[in-house]
Parts: sequence; C-alpha cells; structure tokens
Amino acid sequence: MRRKDYYRILGVDRNATQEEIKRAFRRLALKYHPDRNKSPDAEERFKEISEAYAVLSDPEKRRQYDLFGYEGIQTRYSPEDLFNRTIFRDIFTEFGFDFDDLFNRLFRDFAVTFQRGAPTPERGRDLETEVEVTLEQAAYGAEVEIDVPRMRRCPRCRGSGAEPDRGMVTCPSCGGTGRIEERRISGFTQMIRITACSRCGGRGVIPAEPCKGCGGLGLVERRARIRVRIPPGIEDGSSLVLRGEGDEGRYGGPPGDLFITVRVKPHPQLERRGLDIIYEAEVSFPKAALGGEIKVPTLRGERSVRIPPGTESGAVIRLRGLGVRSPYGVGDQLVKIKIRVPKVLTPRQRELIEELARVLDEG
Ligand SMILES: [Zn+2]
Ligand SMILES: [Zn+2]
Repeated sequence: MRRKDYYRILGVDRNATQEEIKRAFRRLALKYHPDRNKSPDAEERFKEISEAYAVLSDPEKRRQYDLFGYEGIQTRYSPEDLFNRTIFRDIFTEFGFDFDDLFNRLFRDFAVTFQRGAPTPERGRDLETEVEVTLEQAAYGAEVEIDVPRMRRCPRCRGSGAEPDRGMVTCPSCGGTGRIEERRISGFTQMIRITACSRCGGRGVIPAEPCKGCGGLGLVERRARIRVRIPPGIEDGSSLVLRGEGDEGRYGGPPGDLFITVRVKPHPQLERRGLDIIYEAEVSFPKAALGGEIKVPTLRGERSVRIPPGTESGAVIRLRGLGVRSPYGVGDQLVKIKIRVPKVLTPRQRELIEELARVLDEG
C-alpha cells in the first residue's frame, strides 16, 4: 500500500496552522483543478491534495493521522466521514468550482479505494406483525406477549456462516474486496455505484465449508416471545416500534426493528368514540316515566345507574371518568337511553296501556 504524507502533498510544515493549511490547499486546488489544468496527472494531483486537506483541515482527523499515520486514517474513517461534502462545498463554491460535478467525478471514485478496508456489516431486516387487544386493554394500557419468528445468530458457527474449524477462503466473486462496483457514464459524469458483494456479504471471504446449522447464512430462525407494552388510550390501527427486535444482521450487523400494528377487537356492547365510550341502554316505558335503576356495562365492570323520572328517549347520562384513559385526558361513558316499545302485547298489557292512554288524554 502506498503511504501518503499529507503534509508533503500540501507542501506545509508538520506544525502548520489551520490557516496555513487552508491557504496551501487553495493555491494547489486552483493550480490542479482538472478543468483548468489539462496535464495528464492534474486530476490525480487534485484528488491527492483534496484527500490531504480533508484530513488535515479537521483537527481530530489530523490528530489521528499524526498518531497513527495513513493506515490509521483508513481504518478509522469511512469515506463519507473523510470526504465530508460540507468542507468541500464551502471551499469549492468560493472558487467558483461546480461542486456536485467535481464530487461525482473525483470523490466517488476515490471513495472506492477507501472502502476496500472494512465494509460495514448489513443491518438486519425490519419485521412487521399484528397484535389484537380488547377495548379494555386499549383503554387502560396493558402488557401482552406475542410470538415472533425472527432470525438470530446461529449458535453453531456464532454467526460466521463457516463450519467450525474449517476456516475461510477469499471470495471468488469480488476477489476479496467485499465490494461490487458498477460504472455508468452519464454525460460527462462517471457514476460509480458500489454495493456490498452479495456472495460474501461484504466480508471479502467466504466459509471454506458452509456451517451445517445455518447453511452458511450465519442466522437461524427462532420463535421469540416478546413482551409488548400497550400504552393506554391506543387506537385501532396504531403502530408500535420496538427498536432492535427485528432480524439480527448478518456477520455482526445491527438488528432491524419490529413494527407492531395494534388491532382493537370490537366490544360486544360498548363503542369507542375518541376518549368517550358510548352505550345504548334500553329502558322500559314505565321505568323511564317513573325513574329507577338500570345495570350498565362499563370498561370497569357493571355499574348501577339511576334514571330520573320522566326520562325521554335519546336522553344521555354521563358517567364521568369511565371512558378511555390516555396521556391526553380521560373520557366519560355516555349512556344513551332508548325507550323500549313492546312489539307484541298480552291482552292484559293491552288493557293497561289502553287505560293509561285514556287517562293521559283526559289529563
Ligand atoms: Zn451457522
Ligand atoms: Zn465477495
């Protein structure tokens, strides 16, 4: 590997100040900008001074470089960290360079050389599932358990995908780089798309013999019982996210997330409207007229409710605090009175109602 002396590239002293480094970079960038300088090695020089400037202009990266040298920088920073667009955007714009064009032409390319070191392991997949809860659980919150099949690290190979004690060999698909490059020319811009090699998952090596426990995947499916806290007041169709409870990533990659859609089972008698609970109570005509007590189901069990004398059909009785409890407030239960009119009457009932009708007419 070619060792680069960033100070020598910029032509500055090891004790140079940030201002001196910036000045040196400006001078060289103007001199070697590939659109101004047509000599064959200008582009190469321009990349080199940009790389040197990317490292030395950042005090922390400069410190790492002073301590650990070129290799230290390569292993510590991803190209995205190193070729921080904002650093270059500011300085290039000042010189009237077309930043995006330059970045795509030069820096992408050099990102390739930089990414050969340590590809980042792939994150595990996100998973989706549903959980069904009762209206009571949705209203007051609950803890429920769900079964989720998900990918976990294979215990036989500890996630490496290799049969124990058989070792690894260089990946034949990517030649050990872990990367597949796809080049495309678009106008004057060369686009380079870099993806992790799918055969080796970006590791550059594959098992000499795939693990018998997982077929080389490094992961096996396991059913997990997961406790889910249902927050009070949750509505049907809401989504919960459990970070890190999805599939585990391959080769030590971080796990994905678990997305849970909450379904609220319809209640046989009660209906939710916002934070309130609606219940329709059928009351006989005499009870409505004379007043009395009725039994009403609520989310907290059955309650006795007094009906005042002379209650009309459609009247609403409010039971305070018996609705949904959420962080935004507490609802009520609304008992809507519906007077029951008998469809079929016995002769005795008919006789009494006819008598009542007569009395009411006279009154
Ligand atoms: Zn395995
Ligand atoms: Zn590969």
